[in-house]
Amino acid sequence: MPFSDFFLNSSRNCNVMKFEEMGFDERLLKAIKELRFEKPTEIQEKSIPFVMQGKDVIAQSMTGSGKTLAFGGPILHKLAHGKGVQALIITPTRELADQVADHMKKFAKYIKAEVCEVFGGVSIEPQIARLRHADIVVGTPGRILDHLSRRTIDLRNVKTLVLDEADRMLDMGFIDDIRRILSVVPKNRQTLLFSATMPREIEFLARRFMNSPVNIRTQAFVSRHKMKQYYYDVKENDKLSLLVHLIKKENPHLAIVFCNTKRNTDFVSRTLEQNDIEAKPIHGDLSQAARMHVLEGFHRGRPHVLVATDVAARGLDIKDVSHIFNYDLPSDAENYTHRIGRTARIGKEGKVISLLSSEGHEAFRRIIRVHDIEKAFEMNFPRVKIPSRRYERPRMRRYRNY
Ligand code: AMP
Repeated sequence: MPFSDFFLNSSRNCNVMKFEEMGFDERLLKAIKELRFEKPTEIQEKSIPFVMQGKDVIAQSMTGSGKTLAFGGPILHKLAHGKGVQALIITPTRELADQVADHMKKFAKYIKAEVCEVFGGVSIEPQIARLRHADIVVGTPGRILDHLSRRTIDLRNVKTLVLDEADRMLDMGFIDDIRRILSVVPKNRQTLLFSATMPREIEFLARRFMNSPVNIRTQAFVSRHKMKQYYYDVKENDKLSLLVHLIKKENPHLAIVFCNTKRNTDFVSRTLEQNDIEAKPIHGDLSQAARMHVLEGFHRGRPHVLVATDVAARGLDIKDVSHIFNYDLPSDAENYTHRIGRTARIGKEGKVISLLSSEGHEAFRRIIRVHDIEKAFEMNFPRVKIPSRRYERPRMRRYRNY
């Protein structure tokens, strides 16, 4: 299925630019070909020409839109191996840093490039050793600052700085860390900012730290033909039973169940397990090794249900997620957009099911204004036994609790 079907912008179907027309180094084109990327995605087509020209770019694009190559391709094209850290890519989470670094290494298959990922939760010593030879650093703000204070990272040669998922970094309270990092990279660098949503703070960041940036927008919403969205009106006490029933009925290939708090992810996944649905929770309290373990399993379909908070699931490149369940509704339409962006990716189909109880009505009014969600009914479903209740009622707008 062609990637362009993913977006509503049907005018892209004709005359899409080819990778060969982007002026990329032959070695980069060879790696792209081997990855079987037939043509650029919308974000790649719109942003790469400007990024190649060295312009600052603000790009609005969703997770899964192909943005890593949009910034990574030009970075690798311009790279001079062994001349210090020339590109710094800042991401909100360890998983995203790991994933971006992994993609960069694949794009760099035939180019000499040392890509070094730096994030917390793992020993700092191996990172220090690898940073000595790094050409490209991908990292989270806290660990980058840690290396700066130890003087184990030298950012004086940085030519390109990328803020990946900038909106999420602001949500997670990284603004001061980002300002501190920006103050030590050279002023004449190129700055690229990628964000799924564009809150006011992003405009502020751009005005303060970017040089006449080009604004690029892509279609944020996935095709209606590919994605079906439903909601069920359900009593708070019946939500778990309905969730268990729907998962069994839908029999998803891979599903993510979203909860608003860590405790709910534990509670919900425990209930699913007790009802013979293989599920694992993932949230910010798990160690790095435990999170990686769960994600690696999920990539292979064991378990096939991941119960996650927004931050834990954000930015992850998980292919073939067939179902999204909103056990707790997100607080607003933007967060809902982030969640549904996890399914119906790259031409695949997806289903989003939201469980609306009295707790979620206020949020839901905001969400349904922007999204096309159909009401569904399920009258008869067996009630499950609810395990001991270390369950927390969803509290909207408590992002920091992730
Ligand atoms: P990203 O948004 O960069 O995380 O990319 C999402 C997924 O799309 C990754 O699995 C990429 O390997 C894949 N991808 C990126 N660009 C293309 C393309 N032009 N054609 C097909 N798949 C792509």
